Amino acid sequence: MKIVRLEAIPVRVPLKSDRIAITAHGRHAVSEYVILKMYTDQGVIGIGEATVQPLWSGESAQTCVALLKHRVTELLVGQDPQEIQRLCFELNHHVKFNPFMKSAVEMALWDIYGKVRNLPLYELLGGKCHDRIPMKMMIGGFEPKQAAKLAETFLEWGVGCLKVKVGLVPESDLERVAAVRHVAGLELPMTIDANCGWSAAVARKILPRFEKYQLTLIEQPTRPGDWATMAELRRLSPAPLMADENVWTLADAHQAAAHQAVDIISVYPGKNGGILNSKRIAHVASSADMGCHIGSNLELGIASAAMLHLAASTPEIESHKYPADILGPCYHEADMLLEPLQIGPKYALVPHKPGLGVEIDEQQIKRYRID
Ligand SMILES: [Mg+2]
Repeated sequence: MKIVRLEAIPVRVPLKSDRIAITAHGRHAVSEYVILKMYTDQGVIGIGEATVQPLWSGESAQTCVALLKHRVTELLVGQDPQEIQRLCFELNHHVKFNPFMKSAVEMALWDIYGKVRNLPLYELLGGKCHDRIPMKMMIGGFEPKQAAKLAETFLEWGVGCLKVKVGLVPESDLERVAAVRHVAGLELPMTIDANCGWSAAVARKILPRFEKYQLTLIEQPTRPGDWATMAELRRLSPAPLMADENVWTLADAHQAAAHQAVDIISVYPGKNGGILNSKRIAHVASSADMGCHIGSNLELGIASAAMLHLAASTPEIESHKYPADILGPCYHEADMLLEPLQIGPKYALVPHKPGLGVEIDEQQIKRYRID
């Protein structure tokens, strides 16, 4: 079997107007991502999604399309798509960084492999540990009133956990969390994510003040790379501390372990450059007695399916303790899928059809494509 062609389709999908993401990185109101189709000489087509955001990884839809059309096409055309580990290893060698683009390539390879074997991806990844993944919904850095209103919408729907964005203005961060806690009550599991927004000095002062909100975890208070500060904050944090922007690679996970800097590592295929890398990081986390959580940068349907297969097949990822951010499709106007994934309010269900288990809706692609 051989890969004969890659098709990279940039799409532009707005977020629902009341659910835009305001974080310490900026405002995310529209997603410009890339849908990948990988064609083979036997008629099987693999699909992938590159959830590229310049303010997250520096990758844009345009840079991703350019790499896929040229360098990656040169590397992959003529190769057997079933040799996934070898192809990903070579891609890593020939193209540095660009994890979200690489993750889309790996997704398409897995999708082909699953379709050829007539097995859902989780079977190829070692079999499933879970059928449904506990999840949470995210509330952006809104004014307290608006944050509480969105929380009410989610609570009426029946969500099992909420995540509130902080890291913007310290006093308003506290007010936002207080407002959401007020409507949610103390029983509902709740987390916060500062997206690197606090300085070390601010984080030292503000973290203990979150104690009364009884948080499940506190995510990425300060900038990545500063392991000494994270280790210090871990000791004074009123809740388990989680690294997100701090851990992209296996080497980063090694640093987290060496510095005993955090209690939990957040993984997901896009950020880590593929499902296999997320699994490797989960193994390192487990070996260092750290927990593992599924994070997100607001995926559409295809990348959300990849997250579900990762979560389902990796026992080290503890979504029952730390509910997953498998939520992207709930925030967008459209998901690009013929049949939507079943996400929410409390669980995201693992798809069972062969490969990623989802199909592209060509009508949506036609409507949202930007090339
Ligand atoms: Mg995060």
